[in-house]
Amino acid sequence: MTAKPLVIGIADLRRSPGTRRKVERSVELKGLGITTAVVPEGAEISLELTLETMLPGLVASGTITVPWEGECRRCLIPVRAESIVEVREIFDPRPIDGETYPLGEDLVNLEPMIRDAVLLALPLAPLCGPDCLGPAPDLFPTGVAEDEDPAAVVAPADPRWAALADLNFDSPGDED
Ligand SMILES: [Zn+2]
Repeated sequence: MTAKPLVIGIADLRRSPGTRRKVERSVELKGLGITTAVVPEGAEISLELTLETMLPGLVASGTITVPWEGECRRCLIPVRAESIVEVREIFDPRPIDGETYPLGEDLVNLEPMIRDAVLLALPLAPLCGPDCLGPAPDLFPTGVAEDEDPAAVVAPADPRWAALADLNFDSPGDED
């Protein structure tokens, strides 16, 4: 592991109130998930944030793009998708639990905020598509497979199949 990518130096921002700084990066955060969806191992969460001094604190706002995987709640196929969540949070030297995040003297750690936002962005009821109606017939094929020549099924070249045809049809000679 190199330096923590979500710990940002803010000495310059604090010296000049009103200054903004863009923070754009992709990070891997382990162990993020709820019962219905998880951030896959190794997947990158993308941040496009702006940090802005707002004495005595700092405001972080922007968007977080969260890749996730889960199971469609209707047809149960695995689903992979992304959610985008907008954030606007305050970092304060004297944080209020559950309302603002802690701000260091010269550093801010964005990770707790990102984790909270990601957990809220994960879907409680994932769907494979907006109009999924349930198990799709093409997921459970019962007919002739696409790569099978229907003619070959009717008049198989293999004599073993021909024998089966004799069992199943009264007049195999009517096939043409
Ligand atoms: Zn579905």
